[in-house]
Amino acid sequence: MKTKLMQLPRSVLVGRDAIDEIAEVLRGLGLSGRALVVADSTTIDVAGNRATEVLNPFFKTTSEIITGASIEEVRRMERCIEDSDSNFVVAVGGGRVIDVSKLAAKNRGVHFVSVPTAAAHDGIASSRASIKEDGNTVSKGANPPIAIIADTGVIAGAPYRLLASGCADIIAKYTSVLDWELAYEKKKADEYSEYASALSRMSAKIIMDSAETIKSGGEESVRKVVKALISCGVAMSIAGSSRPASGSEHKFSHALDMIASNPGLHGEQCGVGTIMMMYLHGGDWRRIRDALISIGAPTTAEEIGITDDLIIDALVTAREIRPQRYTILEEKMLSKKQAEILACETGVISG
Ligand SMILES: [Zn+2]
Repeated sequence: MKTKLMQLPRSVLVGRDAIDEIAEVLRGLGLSGRALVVADSTTIDVAGNRATEVLNPFFKTTSEIITGASIEEVRRMERCIEDSDSNFVVAVGGGRVIDVSKLAAKNRGVHFVSVPTAAAHDGIASSRASIKEDGNTVSKGANPPIAIIADTGVIAGAPYRLLASGCADIIAKYTSVLDWELAYEKKKADEYSEYASALSRMSAKIIMDSAETIKSGGEESVRKVVKALISCGVAMSIAGSSRPASGSEHKFSHALDMIASNPGLHGEQCGVGTIMMMYLHGGDWRRIRDALISIGAPTTAEEIGITDDLIIDALVTAREIRPQRYTILEEKMLSKKQAEILACETGVISG
């Protein structure tokens, strides 16, 4: 049997004022020397300056602001790591800050610490980074964070729409796992892990079962969602791929990102995709839709702010994205007419 390396986060701190304990956690991990704190123009005020203040007495700290999740920003951060002679990177922000820092840290061979200011998708704990390169968003392999510091007070202060989007990204795991099982059964492709699959499905179930209470918002909802997002990241680490967290519903979302001039949030699009992919799998798609409605996440094209035509185009072209990843979309090979019927039947478009 061949060997397999699983890289996992070593310390995870979730709770109110967790940022105030960041220096203690990092020292406990044996980190020392210089820290590069990366944020964007918003998150620097939300939590970046606070993290720097807490780190300063123990580490020599430099701060950098990023403007987007492009490959150019990754290269610039790599130079910042080098110029400041930093031993590790602390990413304080949402998806873009975390993705750029994650990849730059991997490329420079230093540790990366994730300090999410929102819980909008599972990138806060995973080893994957979504980066814009030559006009397209590509998923690149990096390392998972050595530590995750999730301050529930800070995250609860972010717009509720982001949390709802994070929930939709978790509920999407229902179809990711079904696609993974299908691929393994049909193609014997992508080594299957029962543990990773069960962990991912369990995270989705917890969020689905808690849909009503999550809607009330607040720190308890944040805690529940953050833990589920971290579990999804761990599932990916166990699998050694994004298979337990990304299937046909993610292909649909990536297709929308490519063709829509003003796409919705990643999790929102994956949630809508999950309704339709569950329909294709012959599962209980109404339960998915109802959970998303309870949470307050979009379930229709109109709610994401996308035209019906784009939904149909994305359904047809989604199979061209990462074609080696076999999913229900490759199984069904939808025509334009079939895509339209699917979107109508599930109420995603009004028809
Ligand atoms: Zn996702």
